[in-house]
Amino acid sequence: SLTTVLEQLLIPVPREVTRARIMQIFDEQEVRQALVDDRVDLFFQPKIAVLSGNVTSVECLARWHHAEYGYVSPDNFIPIIEQSSLINDFTRDVLIKASQQLDVWLQQGLDLNISINVSMKNLDRFNLPEIYAEAVSECNVPINRVTLEITESKLGKDFAQTLDILTRIRLKGFGLAIDDFGTGYSSMETLKHLPFTELKVDRIFAHGAAEDPATRAILESSIKLGRVLGLNVVVEGIETKADYALAIELGCDEVQGYFVAKPMSSDELIKWLSEYKNTNDERL
Ligand code: C2E
Ligand code: MG
Ligand code: MG
Ligand code: MG
Repeated sequence: SLTTVLEQLLIPVPREVTRARIMQIFDEQEVRQALVDDRVDLFFQPKIAVLSGNVTSVECLARWHHAEYGYVSPDNFIPIIEQSSLINDFTRDVLIKASQQLDVWLQQGLDLNISINVSMKNLDRFNLPEIYAEAVSECNVPINRVTLEITESKLGKDFAQTLDILTRIRLKGFGLAIDDFGTGYSSMETLKHLPFTELKVDRIFAHGAAEDPATRAILESSIKLGRVLGLNVVVEGIETKADYALAIELGCDEVQGYFVAKPMSSDELIKWLSEYKNTNDERL
């Protein structure tokens, strides 16, 4: 049945497979209506600084609250948005929602930063730096508390244009993260020239690296590379204590993953933060 197929799809499967199969189920019109109805929520996943154990930042991740299927993973609808003209307004809306949330947290006395995921498809508008800076400033949020994460495999179609826009975004004060590092093919070139502040090592190199020498070697080299380039190095997809211990041993700056916390609603995050403060030492 359709539901069975969807249930299978909501289990993490390789992204290209998901994209190809889900396209037949959600069409652009349905996604467009979901955006009009404001049915996309943000979930928040903490990042931890390994030296202090402090929560430094939360990544804001989109979830489509579907009437029939519950929360639908972004891998199943972002590609549809990216292939339409919706992506410009979508990313700006996510940035505004995330900034409004951060404004609330800052007013509550929480010292947090946020990151959002920006599609490469967004990077072709000349005035993007102004649009994003204005969106954040209108929420009373300092721009340097906001990092934009960009997946490296999608970088580099029009390199000069990408460089120009990213440089001007950086000059506005945004942090810039290269996401899913190690899964693209132009990583060295892009790292050398683009104004990144943060490198996020893809989770395929984080989980199980302690048991697999090749994975460990890639994880270790990526962390070293990021550090030599002066970037904030985050290892994502930390699922076990062994993953966590190895990432620390290899010298990364921050960790993110189910072992620390899953993506949560804002209410859950507040609860989690207060519990985390108390149990930080025992947990990790
Ligand atoms: P990403 O930016 O690399 O985000 C990390 C993904 O890994 C998230 O999946 C997160 O829930 C998941 N994750 C975190 N810790 C672990 C772990 O320990 N193990 C495993 N197996 N997974 C973990 P999610 O939320 O399903 O998002 C998938 C991708 O969709 C994101 O990958 C990002 O590329 C994209 N995405 C999410 N929200 C947005 C958005 O607002 N705009 C755009 N353009 N893309 C988005
Ligand atoms: Mg990301
Ligand atoms: Mg990632
Ligand atoms: Mg990703």
